[in-house]
Amino acid sequence: MSDALIENMALIRTMPCLAEPGKIVVVGRPDRPIAAVEPFLNALLPNVITYNPQAGVMALRRKPGFITLYPDQVMITQVKDTQEGLELLAALKDLLNQVWAQREEIAPHAAPRRQARPLDVYALLPGTNCRACNEATCMAFAFALIQSQRRPEECPSLADPVFAAQRQALLEMVPPL
Ligand code: SF4
Repeated sequence: MSDALIENMALIRTMPCLAEPGKIVVVGRPDRPIAAVEPFLNALLPNVITYNPQAGVMALRRKPGFITLYPDQVMITQVKDTQEGLELLAALKDLLNQVWAQREEIAPHAAPRRQARPLDVYALLPGTNCRACNEATCMAFAFALIQSQRRPEECPSLADPVFAAQRQALLEMVPPL
């Protein structure tokens, strides 16, 4: 039997991406649980923006969009089409397997990540500068969140279930009004 963490990452669903009209969200299902690799990803990857070790949920920034890892599912936002989604899922499977294969050389980092700095808050926003919150840019909204002038609920795109992990992290991260 192979030592790979996962053998297969199936595309199980696509849906419209509310953060960027015309693009899709891709939902993938690994054939084995993936939470065990997350502390090693947390130690290694520069683009981890939130990590909840208790829930086994980790969000990674990609350009554009996000990859969110759950114990038995992954979601990738702002994907061009199904073909690109399949390629991204295959690349994600390879990344998880590579990190898993090196786990004995990596000191795992199991602490949650949730620091309230403007760039961290910005990284959790959809990044589309759609102006639906009446701010000129997502960065302006991030500064307003840090200063307790706005709440995450005022970004309509965050209501999309694919941003659930980012929204929850923001609610825990930003100070109350
Ligand atoms: S923060 Fe504002 S500009 Fe950015 S996606 Fe949300 S509503 Fe649009």
